[in-house]
Amino acid sequence: MSDRRKFLKISALAAGGVALGRCALPENDNNSAALPNQASDNQHEVPFVMSTWRHGIAANAAAFEVLKAGGTALDAAEVGVRVTEADMTNRSVGLGGLPDREGRVTLDACIMDHDSRCGAVAFLEKIMHPVSVARAVMEHTPHVMLVGPGAYAFARERGFEPIDFKVPLPEAERAWQEWLRNSEYRPEPNIENHDTIGILTRDAEGRIAGACTTSGMAYKMHGRVGDSPIIGSGLFVDGEVGGAVATGLGEAVMRVAGCSAVVETMRAGASPEEACREIVERVLRKHPEAEATELQVGFLAMDRAGRYGGYSVRKGFNYACTAAGEDRLIDTGYLRAE
Ligand code: ASP
Repeated sequence: MSDRRKFLKISALAAGGVALGRCALPENDNNSAALPNQASDNQHEVPFVMSTWRHGIAANAAAFEVLKAGGTALDAAEVGVRVTEADMTNRSVGLGGLPDREGRVTLDACIMDHDSRCGAVAFLEKIMHPVSVARAVMEHTPHVMLVGPGAYAFARERGFEPIDFKVPLPEAERAWQEWLRNSEYRPEPNIENHDTIGILTRDAEGRIAGACTTSGMAYKMHGRVGDSPIIGSGLFVDGEVGGAVATGLGEAVMRVAGCSAVVETMRAGASPEEACREIVERVLRKHPEAEATELQVGFLAMDRAGRYGGYSVRKGFNYACTAAGEDRLIDTGYLRAE
């Protein structure tokens, strides 16, 4: 990150005093109906990048370099999340991720542009950059999605080399061995047994694109695919409206076709933050057991008018924003404080 960039950590306490606008709701009494409407009209200038979680900071920096040099939103989205995929200290994205319950690291990714062109791969092993394979599916096949051995064979044909090291990495392997002692499957919110990177980019021409990539839920069943590579669930972009990305429990996102729902809610007139909040509320309605299970789902969205925002079920979700000369880490609003 260059020196001239100022990094602002926007917290619930600081949000009120920072020019960026309202970014997080106050600690809440668990009564979502009592919340004030916190829809913000955060405005971005182009070019602009936003992405999920703290690991988005490094992804945004790479994506922004592409945009600054006049690159497309699509190129920026791919380049951005490749940084996270290549980060072998990340336990929830890429081949450094935690394995499934059989000790296999399987990757899911997708990419989409303003013209609704899209590509996806799922259940892919041993390839460092599933997002780039997803883009190749989009650009070089008549299909949208390839999975498992078919995706791998296609990747090899397109010149993607398999990795020459063993996964899971030693630390991930140790965590899995520890998990095997009880074999209790428990997706925990806001910690690294899941935390996809989803990115939305806007280039100087105003085009929006997005990408989403993950190693999925730690200790998932072998063969499980979550929302992240599913166009309309983990990511959706429509150049007429805007784009959205999701993170959190994929099964819950898929039940409401989350990102498609966010974009359609924006199409109907909601701001990005209002739309994210509305679909988060829908997720909770579909999961009455969520109070007990600590379900976490978060959405980010941006629209054509230059507005952006996010929302999550639980406190703890944040996103990185990058615009000219400034990076920010923003806590989203949420419905549940615990
Ligand atoms: N949505 C991802 C999945 O379910 C995980 C995450 O974003 O935390 O695989």
